[in-house]
Amino acid sequence: MTSRLTFGVLGGDRRQIALAESLVLNGYEVYACGFDRTGFAADVKKGSLDDIVRECGIVILPLPVTDDGVFLKMDFCEDKIALDDSFAEQMRGKRVFGGMMERLYRTSAAWKEIDTADYYTREEFAVRNAVPTAEGAVEIAMREYAGTISGSRSLVAGFGRVGKVLARMLRGIGAEVTVSARKPADLAWIESYGYRPLLTADIGGGEPYDLIFNTIPAKIFNRRVLSDLRGCSLLVDLASAPGGVDFDAAEKIGIKAILAPSLPGRVAPKTAGEIIRDTVCHMMGE
Ligand code: NAP
Repeated sequence: MTSRLTFGVLGGDRRQIALAESLVLNGYEVYACGFDRTGFAADVKKGSLDDIVRECGIVILPLPVTDDGVFLKMDFCEDKIALDDSFAEQMRGKRVFGGMMERLYRTSAAWKEIDTADYYTREEFAVRNAVPTAEGAVEIAMREYAGTISGSRSLVAGFGRVGKVLARMLRGIGAEVTVSARKPADLAWIESYGYRPLLTADIGGGEPYDLIFNTIPAKIFNRRVLSDLRGCSLLVDLASAPGGVDFDAAEKIGIKAILAPSLPGRVAPKTAGEIIRDTVCHMMGE
């Protein structure tokens, strides 16, 4: 019989494995579907979609719910679950959580009548997710840059959640940190934290950097700006698609540029899964 407090973890990547395990460790009964090619460290019940429909009152979908807009994201299973009217109808009567849910809503009109919520849009999710994102950026720089971060001239473009956490980490390792922003208040905060403030519009104005990390989801690093940053050894683009870097121009100019999406799931699936768990639990509490 369906229990409101039995969780169904349906599809996803290593974050959802950690999510399912941590829910079990918190005392919940958890069914998981879409993980045929992997195991669980805790007592997660591997099941089918039918098992989840029958047993679970709460269903947690992955982040993103779908990559292609047609099938549920399932990295550990050959079978596919189509996102269509039939899938939506099976979720009727349940509380359904997921990440980037607008992609799911486009697959069936029935979602309008189903109790859904998007954990990806929550501020606490984005703030906590900034930590594994920043650690992933530092890991890329350590791997790809021939020098040390310590003593490097590092630029962080953007002073949002990721920019703030990353700037703090880089300085902790000993980098000379410049941070760009467009709002005077942010520039004042950047200065007060002891970083070098730079107006985003002035990036490429002659200052040399060894490492650049972009967090701005707009094409700031275009051909003109990149030509002015010719001496830069590595540019890591963290911003979501379409990103902030003209990669063709970077290659022609000779700047090694790396697009680095989905870092939390790649570098810290355990923490990323726990962040999803905590966010869903907050939303349920409300
Ligand atoms: P955020 O808090 O919204 O920060 C974005 C920053 O970019 C802010 O400083 C913002 O300035 C600035 N910005 C936005 N549009 C701009 C424009 N047109 N011109 C100049 N500055 C602009 O976002 P976040 O949470 O730090 O995330 C940053 C990006 O990383 C997003 O695209 C996010 O989706 C992505 N992300 C990637 C990963 C990954 O694994 N790679 C993980 C998490 C997030 P204002 O405050 O003035 O608007």
